[in-house]
Amino acid sequence: MSGTVTKVSGPLVVAEGLADANVADVVRVGKQRLIGEILNMTGDSASIQVYEETSGLGPGAVVETTGYPLSVELGPGMLNGIYDGIQRPLTEIREISGHTIARGIDVPALNRQKLWEFVPTVKIGDRVVAGDVIGTVQETSAILHKIMVPVGISGEVVSVQEGSYTVEDTVCLVKSADGVNHKLSLMQRWPVRVNRPYEKKYVPLRPLCSGQRVIDTLFPLAKGGTAAVPGPFGSGKTVVQHQLAKWSDVDVVVYIGCGERGNEMTDVLMEFPELKDPRNGEPLMKRTILIANTSDMPVAAREASIYTGITIAEYFRDMGYDVAVIADSTSRWAEALREMSGRLEEMPGEEGYPAYLASRLAQFYERAGVVECLGSDVRSGSLTAIGAVSPPGGDTSEPVSQATMRIVKVFWGLDSSLAYARHFPAINWLTSYSLYVDSLKPWYDKELGDQFMKNREKALSILQEESSLQEIVKLVGQDSLSAGDRLTLETAKMIREDFLQQNAFMDVDSYSSYDRQALLMHIVLEYDRLCREAMDSGAELGELIRIPAREQIGRAKSVPEEVYKAEYKQIYENMKTQISQIAAGGGEE
Ligand code: ADP
Repeated sequence: MSGTVTKVSGPLVVAEGLADANVADVVRVGKQRLIGEILNMTGDSASIQVYEETSGLGPGAVVETTGYPLSVELGPGMLNGIYDGIQRPLTEIREISGHTIARGIDVPALNRQKLWEFVPTVKIGDRVVAGDVIGTVQETSAILHKIMVPVGISGEVVSVQEGSYTVEDTVCLVKSADGVNHKLSLMQRWPVRVNRPYEKKYVPLRPLCSGQRVIDTLFPLAKGGTAAVPGPFGSGKTVVQHQLAKWSDVDVVVYIGCGERGNEMTDVLMEFPELKDPRNGEPLMKRTILIANTSDMPVAAREASIYTGITIAEYFRDMGYDVAVIADSTSRWAEALREMSGRLEEMPGEEGYPAYLASRLAQFYERAGVVECLGSDVRSGSLTAIGAVSPPGGDTSEPVSQATMRIVKVFWGLDSSLAYARHFPAINWLTSYSLYVDSLKPWYDKELGDQFMKNREKALSILQEESSLQEIVKLVGQDSLSAGDRLTLETAKMIREDFLQQNAFMDVDSYSSYDRQALLMHIVLEYDRLCREAMDSGAELGELIRIPAREQIGRAKSVPEEVYKAEYKQIYENMKTQISQIAAGGGEE
């Protein structure tokens, strides 16, 4: 069916004569066959969000409906890929049309020629239901791609064959109860705005290990959880997200770049393909999918990119993998939403954002979770959603930050004054929080011993005390503090400098294992405890601060982990001896 354009306003096109079309249908607009999606319908008139530049388009142009909602192709070939917001493969397109994407270009998301080695895991006569794995493809050395029975199909396997296939070839026939033979290929489609189904959702009980001390120790994120990283320009959002993409102990990472500044996405596109997986030395892209919206792409594609990304992530979750989605930044996405809403002349809410901003954000984060996947075998997967928020001027009282904070369970608040003082990662320990601490505690206690969480509590309370003591110092000066309070300030400084600060660009420090985090924290808190004991027997704080072991403690994070583990006992003993010498009145000779 086709209609006629009556109005063009940037990415918004209004067309009439589309009485039979449905909201969310994909349409092709004009001679160039630009890709668009119907946002709403009144009578036979449709408002269409067009995902490509609309210049040159005018009233009278033809609009054709496809009858399908905006969907992604799911199958082997996505990993290592770079897509735009509506899953067009950027690398392939660049090969065809050069650096700017030619409008209306039709390149399938999954390569149609490439052959994949399919190894069946079912045999003729097996009964299968939606979600069952019928076979596998070793997609990259990092990921075994599981080919699943699409939603809506179940029955008996009547043919299945090992071999080399393209994504469109039939690899398996499933005969359903009504006698219909369903052809299964390596690929399936899924509408991006619909959550992929699962059997059950669970409470997340395992942490996502990021190797970042302030995150793993103080404000941990659960696998299957949600987190937001708000922060003003220059506070280190991008570095935090890159560190998470690099180091998180998940199987697949989907990185959605919503055109922050023009160059920034280009940085990601240049940098990521060069990165190596720190665990096995393989290119990181083998487990990564990039969704890129550079600033020269229309805003509407940005709006779609979040859904495209999370749908791909859900598909890998359904295979039983741990997946992380990192969206940078949801503020740019919300701005795209605002722009479209404005053009649709909807009633604006706060700061011009549409009233449904909060519910759209919630819909995105709701797709995270630990699930039992569809299918007859028991398999669970997780989807962790992490979103950066870039509030203008760093003011988190604005609508996107506020709406996000009501939804997510972990909040890593970046702080420009910390960044200015070169304290990186500039995650403010006073404003950040994790609501997963209680549910993750059993895991931490079991895997790392219960001292870990005790030390976490202790460190946080010292940092909080530091902040109230600093207030007092500001008012009445350092001299008014007791020796015990001055030691608290000293310990807090050690926690900040020797533990929380972590240099992303220094190889030994970029990633910290749990063991190392535990040791680094423990020794600082032991220093505090031993000093307090010594002070009770008359030792001078001034002398305790100057013990030589302090320097070793400070250097600990920048020596290789193995070396540090080997030397730890010795450093600890040195510290203890030096403190007790002072307590005994011997001082440091
Ligand atoms: P944003 O994305 O918030 O604008 P960036 O992530 O680009 O900020 O960070 C700005 C600068 O801060 C980086 O170029 C880097 O020099 C510094 N930086 C941020 N995080 C770290 C870190 N963990 N270690 C060292 N330097 C950092």
